[in-house]
Amino acid sequence: MSAKSDDEKKRYEAFQTPKGVHDVLPDDHSYHTYIKKVVRHRARQAGFRRITTPMFEYAELFSRSLGNDSDVVSKEMYLFEDKKGRKLALKPEGTAGVVRSYIENGMNQLAQPVMLYYIEPNFRYDRPQQGRYRQFWQFGFEIIGESDPALDAQLIFLVTKIHEDLGLGDMFRLQVNTIGSPEARRKYVEVLEDFYVGKERAVPAEFRDLIHKNPLRLLDKSDKDEDLQILAKMAPVMKDYLDKDSLAYHEELLSYLDELGIEYEENPSLVRGLDYYNKTVFEFWDKNKGAQNAVGGGGRYDGLVELLGGQPRPAVGYAGGLDRILVNMKRAKIRVPMKDDLHVFVAQLGKEAKKKCIGLIGQLHKVGVKAMGAVGKGSINEQLGIANKFKVPYTILMGITEVKDEMAIIRDMTKGTQVRVPLVDVVERMVELIGEDNLDRYTPGELTME
Ligand code: AMP
Repeated sequence: MSAKSDDEKKRYEAFQTPKGVHDVLPDDHSYHTYIKKVVRHRARQAGFRRITTPMFEYAELFSRSLGNDSDVVSKEMYLFEDKKGRKLALKPEGTAGVVRSYIENGMNQLAQPVMLYYIEPNFRYDRPQQGRYRQFWQFGFEIIGESDPALDAQLIFLVTKIHEDLGLGDMFRLQVNTIGSPEARRKYVEVLEDFYVGKERAVPAEFRDLIHKNPLRLLDKSDKDEDLQILAKMAPVMKDYLDKDSLAYHEELLSYLDELGIEYEENPSLVRGLDYYNKTVFEFWDKNKGAQNAVGGGGRYDGLVELLGGQPRPAVGYAGGLDRILVNMKRAKIRVPMKDDLHVFVAQLGKEAKKKCIGLIGQLHKVGVKAMGAVGKGSINEQLGIANKFKVPYTILMGITEVKDEMAIIRDMTKGTQVRVPLVDVVERMVELIGEDNLDRYTPGELTME
C-alpha cells in the first residue's frame, strides 16, 4: 500500500464515530422519543420533577460515591483535566450528580422526600457490544429524604409500569436482595473473604485481588465465569449475617411487592457494583439471558448524602438503560409511531409562485399540516419526482398561471388525480383531506405573567 493511501485511510478513519459510540439516527429517534415520553408521563404521575446535572463533574464526586474499587471508577471513567488542572470526569452514572445537586441547592429544605428524575447520556469506557456502548442513555429516579420500604416498592412498581407501557412487561424479571447496613455488611465481608481464601485457584486471575480487596464483588461477577458462579452458590449467604432492622425492612418490602402483584426472584448474590448502596438492591434481568441483558437497577443509598457532605438523608433510586430498552423493543418487533412522515410537498414554478408557496407552507404548519418544498428551480415534473421520493400523499403545485389566478393545484399522489382550488381555500382543503386526527398540532402550554 502506498504512503498516500495510508494517509487517506487514516483520514477516513478519523471521520468515523470513535469506538463504542454511535449516532442516534432518525428512525431510532422515534424509539427514543417514545421511551422518553413514557418515562416523563409515568414520572410526572408519581410526583417526580425533572433534573439535569452537568455532563461532567469533579472526578472525586464519583470516586467518593461509587468507591475507588468499583469497575466504573477504576476502569471505566473518562477522566480529563481542564486548563487549570482540575480533575474532571464525564459522568458515568446519574445518582452522584443528583445527590451533589440536592446538597448544593439546599433541597433538604423542601418537602421531603424530594423526588427527581433524569433522562441523559452517560459515559463509560466499557467493552462495546450490542446494547453496551461508551456513551449510553439512562433514565433514572431518585427519592431523597425518606426511608420506607413502601417507597422502594413504589419505585419498583413505577419501573414495571414503564416496561409494560413499552410492551416489554413479560421480558424482564425483578431480582431483589438486601445488603443490610454497612456495619453488618462489613462483618459478612470478613466471612466471605475467609471463604474465598484457599480457593484462589478457582477464581479467575483477573478477579483474584478482589478476594482481599472486596470479596462482595466476586458475587457480583459470578455471571462472568462458571467457577465463580459455583463458588457464589456455595458461599455463606449474606442474609445470615445481616442486622435485624434490614431484614425486617426487606420482609416489609417483599410484602408490598406481593401486594402490588410484582413477580420477583430473591437473589442472594445480587450486590450491585457500587459502594453507595445499603439495604434494598434490585435489578431487572432478561428472563432468558439473565444479568447479561439487565435493563436497569437500583437500590437504597441511605449514607450517600452524608458522605458527600450533606445532612444525613436516606434515599433510594433506580437507573434504566434506554439504549438497551430500544434494542429489546426492536428484538421483540415492537414498533413505535413514526411521526416524521410529511403530508405535503409544495412545488412551484417561478419567483412569484415561490413567494406565495413560502407563505402557504407557513400557514399549513400553523394548522398542523406537515409540509415542505418551495425550493429549487427544477421543472414541475422534476419536483413531482422529488415529492414521490419523499412519499408524500399530496403535492401542492403553483405555476405562473396559478399565481395570476390566485389558485393552486392539489395533487393526490396515490390516485394521480388533481383539483384546482382558490389559494385562500388551500389550507382548509388540506385539513379536510388529511383529517383532523392526523394533524401535527403544536400547542405549547399557556403563558401567564406574574
Ligand atoms: P448500572 O447502574 O451499571 O447497573 O446501569 C444501569 C443500566 O444502565 C444497566 O442495566 C443498563 O441498562 C444501562 N447501562 C449501563 N452501562 C451501559 C452501557 N455501557 N451501554 C448501554 N447501557 C448501559
